[in-house]
Amino acid sequence: MGSVVIKDVYKAYGQVEVIKGISLDINDGEFITLVGPSGCGKSTLLRMISGLEDISYGEIVINNRVVNNIQPKDRDIAMVFQSYALYPHMTVAENMGFAMQLKKIDKAQIKAAVQEAADILGLTPLLQRYPKQLSGGQRQRVAMGRAIVRKPQVFLFDEPLSNLDAKLRVQMRGEIKQLHRRLGITTVYVTHDQIEAMTLADRIVVMNKGVVEQVGTPRELFDYPCNRFVGNFIGSPAMNFIEGELIKENENAFFITGNGSKLPLKDGANLSAYPKVLYGIRPEHLRLSKDDGVKAEVTITEDTGSEIVVLAECCGEKITLLLRERVELSPGDIISVEPVPGASHFFDAQTKERIFN
Ligand code: ADP
Ligand code: MG
Repeated sequence: MGSVVIKDVYKAYGQVEVIKGISLDINDGEFITLVGPSGCGKSTLLRMISGLEDISYGEIVINNRVVNNIQPKDRDIAMVFQSYALYPHMTVAENMGFAMQLKKIDKAQIKAAVQEAADILGLTPLLQRYPKQLSGGQRQRVAMGRAIVRKPQVFLFDEPLSNLDAKLRVQMRGEIKQLHRRLGITTVYVTHDQIEAMTLADRIVVMNKGVVEQVGTPRELFDYPCNRFVGNFIGSPAMNFIEGELIKENENAFFITGNGSKLPLKDGANLSAYPKVLYGIRPEHLRLSKDDGVKAEVTITEDTGSEIVVLAECCGEKITLLLRERVELSPGDIISVEPVPGASHFFDAQTKERIFN
């Protein structure tokens, strides 16, 4: 069974601490993504799970066995990197079977395992080719094939799609997800791309500066980000934030911005007044309003055909709206904007932590 338990793990390079006390329970068969900005410690954590990096403090348990002092090759894991790291002088079949060959496994058995993985990944016609005769996507598939052949308890992926172009990335993302469905192998997948993290994961771990900010399903993180960092990181275009105050007048709630504009919150009856809030609203949860709402001045519009991204100045702040209806807007136009009921987020202006659910 491929469960992974990370218990209060730290990592320091000399004096510099880069992982600052991470604990995480990964269930057997689960697909977990580690996401966060570059340099936050994702690869370091993954490499500690794999055994390529020592653990400074804490414990990592794979399959109920503490692996701190166990060699990578004995951990029952297989890792796929961004650089495919294929041997150029070996064919696809040889690359895929190499780990088994090192273990002196019987030739017929290797052949069968390679064939099975090749079938799963659609690599059968390419088995006799060399890496230089393959496209980027095919090479990445071979790297995955090599991991599958080892029949690991846990797959570890470190940004495996970053070298591919955008279309191929989307295609390979789908293939990785299908592969997980089919094989059911516990997977820990590192990416800096929040869309990739959201689309693949059962649960996402949002990391920042060596700590975990929040763990949850894609929906949980999107609907209930626990703080400003997660609110900003998850979702594209990013959430809008405006500082101000939450007041109540006769059971109606209003958000008063720093420059005094008053934004009615139609569903705000259950909110309590709060003196200093950071108001968060996603671009797709802002809409044009006929009557009330607040005024904003359009600065730029970006029309993608399926939607229009509108950048505007509102209450002295820059905001973004994502509109699905086809409106004609030009820079300088004054629009009236209101939040979709139920879609507002409130964070404490000081601590940046979420205050209402
Ligand atoms: P991520 O994968 O999230 O981009 P990394 O885990 O690669 O981040 O790195 C986390 C931090 O640790 C970074 O600040 C990086 O500079 C530092 N770091 C990584 N490897 C080493 C190393 N071998 N020696 C010193 N610092 C390192
Ligand atoms: Mg990395």
